[in-house]
Amino acid sequence: MEPLLKINNETCNACYACVRACPVKAIRVQTEKVKPEIIPDRCIGCGSCAAACGPGAIEIRNTRDDLIPLLKQEKKVAALVDPSIAGEFPDITDYRKFVQMLRTLGFDRVHEVAFGVDLVARAYKDLFKKSRGKYYIMSNDPVTVSFIEKYKTGLVPNLAPILPPVAAAAKVIRSITGNDVILVYISPLIASKDEILRFEGDSQIDLAITFVELRELFTGANIHETDLEFSDFNAPLGYKGSFFPIANGIIQAAGINEELHETPVVTIEGEGMIDAIKEFEDNIGAIKSHFNLFYKEFLMGRGTSMGGKRILRRSQLIKYVNKRLKILDLDAWKKSMDDFSDLDLSRKFKADDQSLPKPPENKLNKILKELDQLEATDVGCGACGYASCTDFATAIAQGLAIPEMCNTFSSKNRQDHIQSLTISNEKLGQAQEALRKSESMAQKEKEAAREASEIVRRMLHKLPSMVVICDQQLKIIQTNDSFIEMLGEDAKEINEVVPGLAGADLKTLLPYSFYNLFTYVLAHNESITNRDISHEGKILNVSVFVIEKNKTVGAVIRDMSAPEVQKEEVVKRLTEVIDKNLSLVQQIGFIMGEGASETERMLNSIIESYKLKKELKDK
Ligand code: SF4
Ligand code: SF4
Repeated sequence: MEPLLKINNETCNACYACVRACPVKAIRVQTEKVKPEIIPDRCIGCGSCAAACGPGAIEIRNTRDDLIPLLKQEKKVAALVDPSIAGEFPDITDYRKFVQMLRTLGFDRVHEVAFGVDLVARAYKDLFKKSRGKYYIMSNDPVTVSFIEKYKTGLVPNLAPILPPVAAAAKVIRSITGNDVILVYISPLIASKDEILRFEGDSQIDLAITFVELRELFTGANIHETDLEFSDFNAPLGYKGSFFPIANGIIQAAGINEELHETPVVTIEGEGMIDAIKEFEDNIGAIKSHFNLFYKEFLMGRGTSMGGKRILRRSQLIKYVNKRLKILDLDAWKKSMDDFSDLDLSRKFKADDQSLPKPPENKLNKILKELDQLEATDVGCGACGYASCTDFATAIAQGLAIPEMCNTFSSKNRQDHIQSLTISNEKLGQAQEALRKSESMAQKEKEAAREASEIVRRMLHKLPSMVVICDQQLKIIQTNDSFIEMLGEDAKEINEVVPGLAGADLKTLLPYSFYNLFTYVLAHNESITNRDISHEGKILNVSVFVIEKNKTVGAVIRDMSAPEVQKEEVVKRLTEVIDKNLSLVQQIGFIMGEGASETERMLNSIIESYKLKKELKDK
C-alpha cells in the first residue's frame, strides 16, 4: 500500500516549510540536492506538512478512486458519515438532501457515526467512574493515539482501551446487516485512512475517504441537492454524539460534569496536544485528571476543505445538531442504546517506538561548532524547524536534517562561496586576458613567419643558381625556377600543375650520381660542397647542406659551363641582392630559424664560389 503522504519531487521547491510544520520530525532532508522525504514509520498522519506546503507538493493517498468499484459490487455498501458534515457542507441546506446525495452516488445505507459516539461516550463515563487512581488519555483521535504509540510508548497503558466512535458504529451496522456489507467511513481526517486498517472482525471498515474526496465525487457524478428529495439516515440515529466534531463534544455527549472544579477530564485540542501529553507524563500525579486530546478538532480536520472558518463551522454544527435533536425520537434512541449496551467496545494498542537514540556528546558538539554554536543551547530561531540549535544538531546527527537548513550556516556558506567565486572570477579574467594576448602574439608571429616564408620563397626563385630542398625520402619540398629550367621541358609542364614540383621524387628527376649526394648527406649529416658533376653535357657544381639533421637537406647547383661574363654578372647581381636583403635575411633567420639561415649561407656560398673562380682565372 502506498504511504499516507508523499512528496512530489517535481513540484517540491525544497523550502522546508513541511519540515518546520511536522510536529514529530518525520520528514528527512538528506542532501541539498535531494528533495525532503516523509518517513512513513515516523509519520502520525496529522497533515500539518500538507497544510504548510505552498506549492501543494505533498500528496495524500487517494482513496476516492477505490470507492467507485466498491459501489459497483453486488454487496451492500454503507456510508458511515462523521457528524462534521454540517461544518464541511454549509452549501447543502438540509442534511437530508446530503443523505440523498450519498444514496444517489450509490450507497445502499447511510449511517451517522453520531450513534457510535453516543455508545463510546457512555463507555468513557463508565471507565472514568471505575478508574481508581488511574488516569486515561482518551483514544478517539487517531493522531494522538499514533503519537503516543510512536513517541511516548511509556503512556500506551494510559490510552483508554475503548474503540473510537467510527469502529463502534461499524459494529452496530454489522450487527444489523450481518458481515456481508462494505463499510466506508466519510471522515474529516486523512489519518482515518490508516486508522481503519487496524480494525478487524465486526469493527472492520473497508475504506475511508475524506470530505474533500466526497465533494470531488459529487462533482464528478454531477449530483446536486437541488435535484433531490429528502432522505434520512438509517437507524439507529445519534443524539448528542453529533457534537463530537467539537473537542469537548464527546464529554457533553457522555453527560460528564464539565464544571471546572468537578470535571474529571481536561480537554486540549490543537498542537498543544503534544505538550499536554508531556505534562501528563511528568505531572499526572499532581494533575489527577483524564485527558481528552485532539491534534485538530474534527471540525477542522485535514480531510476537510482548506480555509474553513472555525467559529462559522462550529455554529453550523450546533445549528445542525439542534435541528436533529428537535425531531429525534428520544425513546427510540434510548432503546437503541439499551439494545447495544453489551456491545464489546474494547480495544488494544501497540507500542511502535520511533524515538531515535541520542547521538554521542562529542558528535553533537562537533556539529554545533560547525553551526557556529559554541555550546548546547535550549533556544534557537526555529527557522530550521527545530525548537533549539541543540535539537537541530541532534537531528543532523540522526540523519534527519542537514546544516544547510540553518539560515546562519547557509548565509555564512553563501558569503564564503561568493567570495571564492569572486576570486575565481578574477583569476579567470586574468587568464583570459593572458590567453587573448598570447593568441594575438601568436597570430602576429604566424603572420610574420608567413611573410618571411614568402620572401624566402621569392628570393629563392630569383636566384640564378639552382636550388632544391627535399626531405628524407628525397621528396621535393621546395625548388626554384633555375632548377626546374635545368630539368627541362617535362619538369616545366609539371611545375605548372604542381608549383615548385612539391612532393615529386628527386630520384625520378636526377641521375643516381646526382641524388646519391643527397642520400649521403641525409644519412651522415655531413654537408658536401662544390662537387662537380657532369649532367647532360654541362658541368654542374653541387653543394648539398644539412638543413635539419636526417630530415631535410638543401642543394645549391651552379652551371659551371656558363660564359665568364655571365658569371661576373651573376656575381654582381647576387651581391646586390645579398647586400640589399641582408638585414631582411637576418630577420627571416630569426623567424624561420635554421631554414632561413641555410638559405643565407647558400647564397653566400654561391657568391664566394663565383668570386674564387674569378680570382683564379684572373691570376
Ligand atoms: S513544504 Fe512543500 S515545497 Fe516546501 S519542502 Fe516541503 S514538500 Fe517541498
Ligand atoms: S503528516 Fe504530520 S507527522 Fe506526517 S509528515 Fe506530515 S506533518 Fe509530519
